[in-house]
Formats: sequence, structure tokens, C-alpha cells
Amino acid sequence: MNDLIIIGGGPAGVAAAIYAARKHLQTVLITEDIGGQSSVSEGIENWIGSPKVHGQELAKMFRTHLDAVKADVVRLALHERVESLVKNAEGFVATTKNGNTFNGRTVLIVSGAGRRKLDVPGAEKFENKGVTYCASCDGPLFSNQDVAVVGGGNAGFETALQLLAYAKSVTLLHRHKEFKADAVTIEKAREYPNMRILPNTEPMEVVGEQFVSGLKYKDKDSGAVEELPVTGIFVEAGVLPNTGFAAGLVELDAVKRIKTDPHNQRTSVEGVWAAGDCTDELYHQNNIAAGDGVKALEDIYLWIKKH
Ligand SMILES: Cc1cc2nc3c(=O)[nH]c(=O)nc-3n(C[C@H](O)[C@H](O)[C@H](O)COP(=O)(O)OP(=O)(O)OC[C@H]3O[C@@H](n4cnc5c(N)ncnc54)[C@H](O)[C@@H]3O)c2cc1C
Repeated sequence: MNDLIIIGGGPAGVAAAIYAARKHLQTVLITEDIGGQSSVSEGIENWIGSPKVHGQELAKMFRTHLDAVKADVVRLALHERVESLVKNAEGFVATTKNGNTFNGRTVLIVSGAGRRKLDVPGAEKFENKGVTYCASCDGPLFSNQDVAVVGGGNAGFETALQLLAYAKSVTLLHRHKEFKADAVTIEKAREYPNMRILPNTEPMEVVGEQFVSGLKYKDKDSGAVEELPVTGIFVEAGVLPNTGFAAGLVELDAVKRIKTDPHNQRTSVEGVWAAGDCTDELYHQNNIAAGDGVKALEDIYLWIKKH
């Protein structure tokens, strides 16, 4: 029986695991990987203490820090995906896709979020045939080609900036007139002559024969449907919380994020905490996820000492 099960190895999970090790809480960290969502980023410029760090480098730093402190207190269950989490008389049991089970008196859910898919005709058919969800993985395949980015948040503009390094042109489509991305990131993208930005547009259909040859979209001002001749479509249309395994246990909000008390990261179930992008926290950033993971751990420690 562990004191604590941590589910997820992003900034929230790793920060909590480091604190758990220092407080000698017998912990199992169950995760598919160490690093989390921004591991694919070419450059993270707001991780406190580092002006710029590659996402994979940050993931390595997390692992190094964890290895330095975990001793025999925090056990890693890597490449494991939790599929169910249930309560029993002693605490909680997490079961993974590989059929392994882990017991703990308390649980911290830090399973983050994944990509929202482009939901238009042709998007599924052409996935990995021009439609992609990872610019740093697939971007170089589109050297000297015309590509589109769907999404006007930070992830959309960061993706556009990565692609501008090698694509012939980048056209970014966004559903609304106002962008969600930081002004400084938008300005950086606007400086490129081969960058085109189409606000207030709606993707309608991905077209092609064997591979993508275009993206049909609607201009919401005029109502006209146009076709962009592009061979690559990079989707950055938001995220979906990884909370399916917890849905029967803790209370979720309308968009399936775990409801938490922002004072201490407690969920609706005693003995279960949640932090980071899987929660109804308003702002989704590495530093916030790490901070909320630490906040949860402090509260878990006091709870365990009390019970
Ligand atoms: C491309 C990109 C660039 C970004 N750039 C920045 C940036 O520059 N600065 C910034 O502050 N933020 C950035 N963000 C946002 C930031 O990455 C997130 O806010 C942060 O990663 C959230 O951390 P987390 O620990 O809550 O979850 P995540 O990072 O999503 O980590 C979740 C972890 O849980 C694991 N997991 C998921 N489901 C399960 C399961 N069922 N069983 C076991 N393990 C599971 C995953 O494998 C992963 O290890 C970026 C995001 C993206 C996508």
C-alpha cells in the first residue's frame, strides 16, 4: 500500500513527486512519459529560471531532478496508462492498460490534456496524410510547401513560427476575430512576409486524392467558401482533459475537467486531489501546473499525517 498514487508525469506530476520524495511519502508515479505536453515545443521561454529551453530538454531536466531525489521513496511506473481508478475500503486502486494494479491511501490526478481533433469531413481520412497534430514531429516533411495552421491560441501561433522556418507559406485560420495568443507571439509571426492570418474563418473540409491538396473554409464575414491550396494542415484547436478514467469517481465540469478547490487542489472525493491541465484551473501553463502540483502535495502530506 502506497501513501500516494500520482497519475501523470508532466510538470504537475513531477513537481509533486519531488516534494513527495522530500517528505518521505511512499509514492508510485504512474505515467506514460515524463515531460508532458510541452515536450514537443521547440522553445519554452517562460519556465522560471531558464530564458529558453527546448521541450525535450525540459523533460530531461524533470527526469534528472526526479532521479536525484526519488531514492526508494518514489517508484516510477513508466509507459503505463491508467484506465480505471476506484475507491475501496483501504483507499484507491488504479489499473493500467497493461493490466497492472497499484494501491494507495491517496491519489493525485495530474493527467493533463490531449489535442482536440479537427472535426470536419476529410480530417480523419487524411490524418497523417497531410493532417497532423505535431508540428515539431512532422513540420520538416513540409519544407518549401504551402501549409495551414488551424487555431489562433499560443499553440497555433507557436506552430506557425516553427513552420515558417522551412515552409513556403503558412496560413493561420482562427474562428474568431480576436486571437487568444500573446500579443508578442502574434507580432513575431506577422513579421514574416510568407505568413498570412485569416481571422473569423471556419474550416469546412479537407480535400485531396491520396494526400491533402487543400482546405475549404468559410469566411464568416462574407459567408463565402474558399479553398486554400495547401499540402499540410497543422491542427492546434485546443485540448481535451485526460480524465476518462476518473469520470466515475470525481466530479467533472461541463467540459470534463476535474473540479478542484483552488485553495488546496482537493476534488469532490476525500483522498483524491487533482492539479494542472486536467482540472478546472483557468490558466494552463507549465509553471502553474507545477505550482498547483506542489500545493496539492503539501495538502496531501498534512492529510496523511492527520489520518
Ligand atoms: C505545443 C505546446 C507548447 C506549450 N508551450 C508552453 C510554454 O511555452 N509555456 C508554458 O508555460 N506552457 C506551455 N504549454 C502548456 C503546458 O505544456 C501545459 O500547461 C502543461 O504541460 C500542463 O502540465 P500537466 O502536468 O498538468 O499536464 P501534461 O503536461 O499534459 O502532462 C500529463 C501527463 O500525464 C500523462 N498521462 C495522461 N493520461 C494518463 C493516463 N491515463 N495514465 C497515465 N499517465 C497519463 C501524460 O503522459 C503526461 O506525462 C504548451 C503546450 C503545448 C501543447
